[in-house]
Amino acid sequence: MASERLKMENGLRHALEQNEFQLHYQPLVDLESGSIIAMEALLRWQHPETGLVSPAKFIPIAEETGLILPIGRWVLRAACLQHKQWQMQLGEEIPRVVVNLSARQFKGENLVQMINDVLEETGVEAKSLGLEITESIIMENADQVLETLTELKEMGIQLSIDDFGTGYSSLSYLKSFTIDKLKIDRSFVRDLAVDADDEAIVTAILAMAHSLGVRVVAEGVETAQQLAFLKQHGCDEYQGFYFSKPLPAEQVVEKLDRPASLLLEQV
Ligand code: C2E
Ligand code: MG
Ligand code: MG
Repeated sequence: MASERLKMENGLRHALEQNEFQLHYQPLVDLESGSIIAMEALLRWQHPETGLVSPAKFIPIAEETGLILPIGRWVLRAACLQHKQWQMQLGEEIPRVVVNLSARQFKGENLVQMINDVLEETGVEAKSLGLEITESIIMENADQVLETLTELKEMGIQLSIDDFGTGYSSLSYLKSFTIDKLKIDRSFVRDLAVDADDEAIVTAILAMAHSLGVRVVAEGVETAQQLAFLKQHGCDEYQGFYFSKPLPAEQVVEKLDRPASLLLEQV
């Protein structure tokens, strides 16, 4: 076990040096207009021997070892550079690029400073960036995290809660108006149109979020039935294999290059 982890840790260090990381991108689609309004960057590790390693496997170890700090910075920088490139290819008004953050990034460094530096270096505007955090990040260290989130929000960055409904949380952070979006976890979306309990949960999240002025995204939408339920109940956005799997930048750009996707960023 211990040697497995050590191997992984060394592998991750090597990966940063040898450029073995890549980003794939998965669109977030506006349910009303059908246009893509954001692209979520998802980290991929192309290991020279074992092939593609899932982030679920290596992110926890990157967090424990602190390697998530340089890796997180790499992700942000790569996503911003990609956004710049899309802008040059397709014009000014392209969807936001969205990056996932880890708890450790709120503790081990000055996150606001790091993000500011990367935006400045890459020439990406704060309004073109979104960040996703889980409820557990807020619950771990509420005051400090909320302070950081408020600063990021004031810069103009859009903030989302990822995997909503899976962590225990007080919900009181929702009153602070720092959060723009809730992403309903895939586990509630999976059985929509089959399981009445999940339908009740999703409907309740929609009502709560909307009364607080928070937009709602459904994660992991795979079927037309799920999509129909979400549309009927006023969900704002969706993401999932039904529209597109996470894809390399050059493939996902084909989905972006359409007039419908030019509304954007104002949402
Ligand atoms: P997440 O941010 O909640 O991302 C959604 C995950 O669900 C992605 O898995 C995506 O490929 C998958 N997914 C999307 N649509 C569907 C669908 O319709 N059906 C199913 N079955 N799955 C779907 P992925 O890429 O393996 O990422 C897993 C998790 O790893 C992410 O969950 C996120 O928490 C973490 N992660 C990924 N990239 C990064 C990163 O750059 N930094 C940090 N800190 N975490 C990351
Ligand atoms: Mg996410
Ligand atoms: Mg999620």
